[in-house]
Parts: sequence; C-alpha cells; structure tokens
Amino acid sequence: MQKIRVTIWNEFRHEKKVPAVAEIYPEGLHVALGNGLAAEDLEIKYAALDDPEQGLPDDVLASTDVLLWWGHCAHGEVRDDIVAKVHKRVLEGMGLIVLHSGHMSKIFQKVTGCSGTLKWREIGERARLWNIAPTHPITQGIGEYFEIPHEEMYGEYFDIPKDGNIIFIAHFAGGNVFRSGVTFERGFGKIFYFQPGHETYPVYYQEEVLKVIGNAIRWAKPVFFRELSCPNYPAIDKVGE
Ligand code: ZN
Repeated sequence: MQKIRVTIWNEFRHEKKVPAVAEIYPEGLHVALGNGLAAEDLEIKYAALDDPEQGLPDDVLASTDVLLWWGHCAHGEVRDDIVAKVHKRVLEGMGLIVLHSGHMSKIFQKVTGCSGTLKWREIGERARLWNIAPTHPITQGIGEYFEIPHEEMYGEYFDIPKDGNIIFIAHFAGGNVFRSGVTFERGFGKIFYFQPGHETYPVYYQEEVLKVIGNAIRWAKPVFFRELSCPNYPAIDKVGE
C-alpha cells in the first residue's frame, strides 16, 4: 500500500510563549494532531515556521501529498516565495487542509483570492457543527451533527469564494453561524478549510474533529501531480480543406 505523505505545518509560537496553550499542547498542536491522526495508510511529518526554510524546503514540498496548515499570530512572517511554491504545488495536485486561524494565512488568501475575514469571539462557547454533505467522503462516520463543548466563535460573514462546496455549518451558543467546513478545487489540487482548533481548547483531541481531518486527508490526496502549462496545440483533424 502506498502511504499518503502528510506534512503538518504549524506556526508553533503560541505553544512556546503561552503557558495555557503549552499545557494543552506540550509538544505543539501539530504533534498532537499527528498522534491523533496516526494510521497505517499515513506517513506523517512535521514542519514549523522556525525550522530551516520555514519548514518547507523544496524536498519536503516535493514529497508531500497533503499539507495541513495551522497558523495564527505570524501569518505575515511566512515568506512570499514559500507561499508561491506551496501554491504552485497545490495547482499541480497537492492537497491542502487549512485549519482554524489559517483563514487569514497567506496561502489561504492566495488559493481563494479572498481576504478570509470573519467575525470572532473568545468566550469558550459551544459549537454545533451540522453535517450538510452527508454523502461527501469528508463526513463519513460523522452523524447529522457533532458538538465541540468549548470553542472560539467564528461567524459570518466569512469572505471566501462562492464556488466552495459547503460541508459543515456551525451554530455557536452565542447565536452566530459559520461555514465551518468548505472544499475548493484549484488546478489539480483539492483544498479543505476546517474551522475547529482554537489553541486554548483541547479541540484536536476530540474524536469527531480528528475523524473529519483524517477523512479530508484521504479525500485531498493527489490523483496525480502534473505541472500546468499553456501549450500551442496542433489541430488533431484537418481544418479548412
Ligand atoms: Zn483561534
């Protein structure tokens, strides 16, 4: 069996600076995610912003089938040339899963062409995520809805493209709603944005959240990698005779 090569990229700053976050994710939320996602068919590697080449040297990108992205306070530090390389790789077929505060990462803005802006509130309220795509591979094993007991509220209006396929709609205890799971296709690459995962709540230990992300990895794995080109194409049949 050919394993899916997964790279979990984490900004990995909050865990080092904020004790409350370090307490929940002592090795970083990327490692917690990797432990929770571990499976026979996945080969999981980790990458962080402070690693050489910001964790994404060419050989890592070239050997990644699906890239997970978690960033928050340091979106601006991610180098534009690295974002361009990741973007190119997505167009060539690499899967991209953007988590939680990655909604304003450079790579999400690049692949969507939108700002990714939204409303937010941090009072630890309950989120109820409704599964509105019950036949989609990403929701298999998930019931009609699942709840996250304490989560940061993300609310509409969420500035994303209108061609997104909405997989989950969340309702927050404080009244807001949000498109919490949305897929896109760009070039040959598949993209999934998934809202859960605020760093001060243990969301990435929750079974349903891990199930969705695991399903998304398997859905987003490349069918093939192919460079996009713009060739002058000779006629197949004789024309004008
Ligand atoms: Zn957050």
